[in-house]
Parts: sequence; C-alpha cells; structure tokens
Amino acid sequence: MRDERLPPGSVQYGSGMSELALARYGEVERDRILERLFDWLRIPSISAAPEHAADVRSSAEFCLSLLRAAGLENAAVLETGGGPAVYADWLHAGPERPTVLVYGPHDVQPVDPLEDWTSPPFEPVIVDGECRARGAIDDKGQSLYQIEAARGLLLQHGELPVNLKLLIEGEEEVGSPNFERLLRSEADRLACDVVVVSDTGMIAPEVPSTTVGMRGLVAFDVSLRTASIDLHSGMWGGAVPNAALETARLAAALHDQQGRVTLEGFYDRVRGLSSTEKASLDAQPFDEVEFRRTAGGVPYLTGESGYTALERIGVRPTAEVVGLHSGYGGPGIKTIVPSTGSFKVAFRLVPDQRPDEVEAAFSTWLARHVPAGIEVTVTPEGGVAPALTPIDHPCMGALVRTIESVWGRSPLFTREGGSGPEEALGRVLDAPVLFLGVGLPGDRIHAPNERMVMDQFWKGLLAAGELLIELGGDKDGR
Ligand SMILES: [Zn+2]
Repeated sequence: MRDERLPPGSVQYGSGMSELALARYGEVERDRILERLFDWLRIPSISAAPEHAADVRSSAEFCLSLLRAAGLENAAVLETGGGPAVYADWLHAGPERPTVLVYGPHDVQPVDPLEDWTSPPFEPVIVDGECRARGAIDDKGQSLYQIEAARGLLLQHGELPVNLKLLIEGEEEVGSPNFERLLRSEADRLACDVVVVSDTGMIAPEVPSTTVGMRGLVAFDVSLRTASIDLHSGMWGGAVPNAALETARLAAALHDQQGRVTLEGFYDRVRGLSSTEKASLDAQPFDEVEFRRTAGGVPYLTGESGYTALERIGVRPTAEVVGLHSGYGGPGIKTIVPSTGSFKVAFRLVPDQRPDEVEAAFSTWLARHVPAGIEVTVTPEGGVAPALTPIDHPCMGALVRTIESVWGRSPLFTREGGSGPEEALGRVLDAPVLFLGVGLPGDRIHAPNERMVMDQFWKGLLAAGELLIELGGDKDGR
C-alpha cells in the first residue's frame, strides 16, 4: 500500500470561494476513496455474532489506519469489553474555535437470509450508481466520508477549521451496551462543543432533510407458565388455562381500540410538536402506496388514531410485539394445551419519556393483566432514552446552510423512528447533537441488498467538509 500520509497542506486542489471546499478532492481522490470503502466493506464486522468478534476488531484496526492516513492524531483503539471503538483527533485550531466530535459506527448487522442477496454481502459491487454491501450506508460509508473530509481539508490547508475528534463505535448494531460507560470513562478525551452524528438519512436527494430527534427504546421478554407440563387437549382442554391463549391475550392487550398503548401514564411526558416542526412534518411528501410498497407490500396502515403515518413512526411512542411463541409449531398437529408462552415487546419512546418510568409502568400493567396464579417472568432487554436537538439551537444554522449548499434546498426537519446512542452522546458529553446523514428510504438497511447511492456518498463528503467550515465560523477565510 502506498504511503497516504502526505505532508499536510502539500496538495492544493484549488477551489474558488463559490465552490464547495472538497469538490476537487472528491474528484481527484475518487478511485482511492472507493478502494478504501470496498476494503472496509469486505470485513464482516457483524457485532451480533460472537464468531465475528475478530472481524469487528479487524474493522476497528482498518478504521484506525484510515484515521492515521487522514493525518489525524492520537489515533487509538478504545476497548469497551465488547466491540472496540476507534478514536482520533486534530486539536490545533485554537481554543477560540469549537471542538466538534464526529460519531459513526463501524459494526454491521447480520446478513441472513443470505439467499435473498443478489450479490454476496461482503463483496461490494457498484450497480446502477449504488454500492451494494452490508454496511454500505449503515454505517461504514457514512463514517468514511467524514474521515475523508478531514483528510481532504488537512491535505488542502494543512489545518482544520475546528478542533476535530472522531469516535467510531464498534457495537452500535447490538444496542451499544458499553457505549455510555465508554463515554463516561473517556469524558475528558471526548469533551466537545458539538456532536455530529453521521448515521441517519434524508427523505430524498431532492427533498433533503435532517433528523432532529431519535426515539428511545425499552424492551422486555415476558414468559408465562400456566402448568408444570403440557397437557393432553382432549383430556384437559376446555378446563385448564392455555398458555398460548393467555400469551396472545396479553400481547393483544397492549393496545386499545384506538391503537393507544394501555400502560398507565404512558403518554404523560410526551412533548407536543413545536409549530416549526409540525409545519416541517406536514411539508414532507408522503405517498401511501409507495410507503406500503417500500414496507414489503403491507396491505394497509395501522396505528394510533388521530395521527398521520409520519407522526406515528417519528413523534409518537409505540409498543411493538417483536416475537411471540407458544406450543407446538412443527409439522402436522400435536393435541396439547401448552403450558408455557412468551413474547417480546419493544417500546419506542419520544421526548420526554423515560425508560425507567416505562419499565415501572409495564410491571404495574403486567400485574393487572396477568390472571392470578399464572407464573410470569419479565427480563428487561435494555433501554435508551429519546433524544431531541432544538431546531433553534445556533449550531443548527450551520447544518442548515451546509445542506442548502450541497443539496440546493433548505432541509426539512424530521425525527428518526429508530433509536441509537445519540441520546447518551448529547447527555454525557453535554453538547448539542447534529445529524448529517445521507441515507435514503430505499437503502434496505438491516435487510438483504443494503445499498448506498454513490451520489449521496460524494455529497456526504462535500457536506462533511462544509459543516466543519460552517461550524468553524469563517466560511470565506481559508
Ligand atoms: Zn443499523
């Protein structure tokens, strides 16, 4: 591999003031950047699979080499006890300039069902302007354009417009179990004025948008036992409780007729939308037919009455039964009354709901809904609080100008329905969180044939550079 550590400031890609700072860099370095992208995507860093632990580590080491090659300093693998994170910085912009921490993950989701992929998930290809591979958009591609933006600016100018720190996590796809502890133990190293998260998407290239919030998550496994053994359905059925039926009843009782979650006080802390956010949400294009098609052809939409589909998936909390099991599922029939049943439920939370309060409300709810005498075991499966960046925060202006300059239109503000470690980043580091993400609704994240639209990747590179310049505060000064 040739040495990529050219002396800082030694390359002038020459961009006029009207041009985007990294436009030429993206053109000249195109092939090398693609090569790096492909090399990284070839590493099967599946954090959920213990047999891929060594690959997650290889991915971290590969990321480390990228950060070093970018001219960043203090590059280090940060051990977490799980998948390792990677850190590097460049801190010579002076104390009067802000310190920006850029966050993205390098681990990926499992790939099954493998037979649904049109090309192998860890052999990236570019087809019709899309890069297809597991991790292409979620999130190696998005982490890479951030690293390349730093490299490009350093090569051109020998310096950055801000003090920059990059933190690339290695267990985001399994719910970041050690992330908050890492943030706390590395609080000094990670201290910053603003966080830039590069792990989200936008509505469409012609309808650019930025996420201002993410839902939180709290999940449980619930197991029921009605008897010590399964019973003969002819000899006992009709006279004894059926665990399959009780499990189904319990799961069904999570919602009322209006689609509202039946936990007591569940909606008490849900914050209303500001008029700006409501207007932005209403301005989002929504085509129900297309939405249902993208959702795997669901026959109709459902959910909490009185709210639009976009509101239901972004600004309203939900309870989703993610799995339900009981009794016999093999071929043919087995004439039993099942004695055990279980279901898993994931609550998506919105500001200002709190995972611990929802957990308490859920155990009260279970006590009320499970018939007396039925044995119930609840296993908490982790929780993340929701996150929201106020639209009127000053640093939001820098992001809005960045998106305008790269995509040619002012962004709409959206909320991400998913959950992530962003809340912990903002809370522990006590900094506002900006979301610069180029993913698109059709990117099939977590699914077979994940893709990244390459035009969005190159725009991401430009935007990452512009955002640092905007945050540095002297757009025309260098
Ligand atoms: Zn993901």
